[in-house]
Amino acid sequence: MDDKNNKNEKMEAIVSLAKRRGFIYQGSDVYGGLSGTWDYGPLGVALKRNIMNLWWKMFVEDRDDMYGVDAAILMNQRVWKASGHVDTFTDPLVECSKCKGRFRADKLDDANKCPTCGEVGSFSEARPFNMMFKTNVGPVDDESSISYLRPETAQGIFTNYKNILDSFYPDLPFGLGQQGKAFRNEISPRDFIFRSREFEQMEIEYFVDPAKWEESFEHWRRQVWKWTQALGLPDENVHELVVEGADRAHYSEKTIDFEFDFPIGREELSGLAYRTDFDLQNIAREAGKNMEYTVKGTNTKFVPHVIEPSFGVERAIMAVLSTAYTVDEVNGERREYLKLPAHLAPVKYAVSPLLKNKPELVAKAREVYDILKRKHGTVMWDDNGNIGKRYRRQDEIGTPFCVVVDFTTLEDNTITVRDRDTTEQKRINISEL
Ligand code: ATP
Repeated sequence: MDDKNNKNEKMEAIVSLAKRRGFIYQGSDVYGGLSGTWDYGPLGVALKRNIMNLWWKMFVEDRDDMYGVDAAILMNQRVWKASGHVDTFTDPLVECSKCKGRFRADKLDDANKCPTCGEVGSFSEARPFNMMFKTNVGPVDDESSISYLRPETAQGIFTNYKNILDSFYPDLPFGLGQQGKAFRNEISPRDFIFRSREFEQMEIEYFVDPAKWEESFEHWRRQVWKWTQALGLPDENVHELVVEGADRAHYSEKTIDFEFDFPIGREELSGLAYRTDFDLQNIAREAGKNMEYTVKGTNTKFVPHVIEPSFGVERAIMAVLSTAYTVDEVNGERREYLKLPAHLAPVKYAVSPLLKNKPELVAKAREVYDILKRKHGTVMWDDNGNIGKRYRRQDEIGTPFCVVVDFTTLEDNTITVRDRDTTEQKRINISEL
């Protein structure tokens, strides 16, 4: 089998495990699905929150120079005119005159042949297609009520820059961090959650003295590595790609894409951009408000420049899942499991009584379950099937430890703790948990 098939097989195995075990389902699945949307089940939402909370702690809570915000998804339409999204957030599309299919002109294998109906020479001229989801706010459906589902969380940060200046008088450099949904009417959503129409971003706008932007850019470049390491991604699978002139977004003077070796190939995981004063100057012009920062104790004023580290939650999840997905052999049997870092695993401990029809074992196991639950929160009660099956099930969802209560427990208060990765079992006293 060639390398590509191998990789696709791994991707398919991850998608299938994610669905089977309650991590991620196709959105609106019972109705045949809605392309580019995904629903998170109990384990998926736990994994997603662990990732988002880790980010929030690392980049907002643990730092004195960062402020958290949570802006509305719907924003004044002037935001998107000023930011350039109304005019430039487009992809060039051609339309097939036979089947009416629309395609990204630059992504066609054969520029002349329709990939859907096979017609040759049926394409229209390429026309720009705006990727923002348009909607109307309120009952009147006219130009003045148009709004958009935000295509990035960044603008909700820029529009709050002045509020934070006025409420908190921060010293420069300082940053605002936000997590939340973003929406893009992607032409071809694909590769599981990698390219979705509705997804989640975690973004930082870091305001700096224009003379010192390079040192902050370098600081955040190192922070991105700290983040990928916190996710447990091996350094050798993360790559920096300096994005050259024409490929950079319209607002950026310097961009590094952080790419990851996904099973689908090397693709963008997150981005780091030097947005200059592009956004604050746009707001100053469009809204007629002063965006200057006054250096404390001086009369020096300037509009700060901005370094933007931008992270996608879905791509982080996909990188974590594909790093964790492991196949090995235990006692001559194939085992498929998730070697998730313990701090990201949706369930930290599974607790079972050796036999579920022995009330004294069940009662003791419940006690242990309660102790662990108080300490760790995410603990699962699992008494279905035999112990071997329980272990496999927990391995599949990445639970680092399984705890079993047996007859010896009743005598000496010891339990068996089994390690997911080594499958080794140890007897320890309950008080040592
Ligand atoms: P790409 O080049 O892959 O389309 P982009 O350069 O348009 O991505 P940005 O606008 O820089 O992406 O968005 C910041 C981050 O948001 C990306 O690094 C990615 O993690 C995430 N992201 C962007 N588009 C999507 C999408 N359609 N689905 C899931 N995540 C996305």
